[in-house]
Amino acid sequence: MKPAPFQYRAPGSVDEALGLLGPDSTVLAGGQSLVPLLNLRLARPELVVDINGVAELDYVRADDGPLRIGAMTRQVALERSELVRRRWPLLYKAVRLVGHPQIRSRGTVGGSVAHADPAAELPVVLTALGARFHLRSRGGARVLGASEFFLGPLYTARDPDELLVEIEVPEQPEGSGSGFVEHARTHGDFATAGAAAAVAPGGHAGIVLLGAGLVPTRAEPAERALAEGAHPREAAALAAQDVEDEYRRALCEELARRAIEEAMA
Ligand SMILES: Cc1cc2nc3c(=O)[nH]c(=O)nc-3n(C[C@H](O)[C@H](O)[C@H](O)COP(=O)(O)OP(=O)(O)OC[C@H]3O[C@@H](n4cnc5c(N)ncnc54)[C@H](O)[C@@H]3O)c2cc1C
Repeated sequence: MKPAPFQYRAPGSVDEALGLLGPDSTVLAGGQSLVPLLNLRLARPELVVDINGVAELDYVRADDGPLRIGAMTRQVALERSELVRRRWPLLYKAVRLVGHPQIRSRGTVGGSVAHADPAAELPVVLTALGARFHLRSRGGARVLGASEFFLGPLYTARDPDELLVEIEVPEQPEGSGSGFVEHARTHGDFATAGAAAAVAPGGHAGIVLLGAGLVPTRAEPAERALAEGAHPREAAALAAQDVEDEYRRALCEELARRAIEEAMA
């Protein structure tokens, strides 16, 4: 199918992009999710604002402590970043499981976050790492945590006139470990379920499930239990206890156990 007609603009800066965004506009980043939606006419914006020329949103750096990822950073840049691999290995482990290399070389980190697919890897690991999402509009700027940002499948707290500009990932304490495990029926497919664990010395943990709910599902009872010295098997059972479907619950429990064990090892 062909998309419904739309106006197309390609701004060269964030300010120019913000001047264009409004209720009937859509941002085009890597296009890996948006273009199929346009072609199927599930999205019918009047204006497409293509931010591929906004070079100021393409960076991965950690000069002042936290990792800062510009929204237009291609997913492959995380995979190839020595900084990410060394200091935020959970991101490195997860991004390599996003689709296929062709998808990751075009798809952006901001696009994956803004699209908020409940089966996507990056929103899950960013939630486990305590990431904060920076939004800008003509009227100002705001910063949201994962629980405020991800509201439902393909649904976030971002207003139509806001651009996601940066993802900020806090520094992980010295000696932290991480694990990411997922189950997909075919390599490169979206996962049926998955689990991310970031464990700091002393047991402080971020444990988040993929495919257990409509948004990345933070397993707070499991996090508390792990901090109090629970065995990974017990924590994993707590993590999955509220998953309604029996098969999915068993899968999430097993994946959570493996992710926690990998993180603690
Ligand atoms: C065959 C295939 C397999 C895939 N497999 C996986 C997978 O296994 N795991 C996975 O996680 N993903 C997968 N994807 C999706 C892929 O990761 C996409 O790249 C990602 O979901 C969207 O990123 P994008 O840059 O292409 O965004 P786009 O498609 O351009 O945009 C997606 C949405 O986000 C909005 N948006 C984008 N950037 C911004 C911004 N800066 N501010 C505000 N809104 C913005 C757009 O308006 C649109 O609504 C797959 C895609 C394909 C085609």
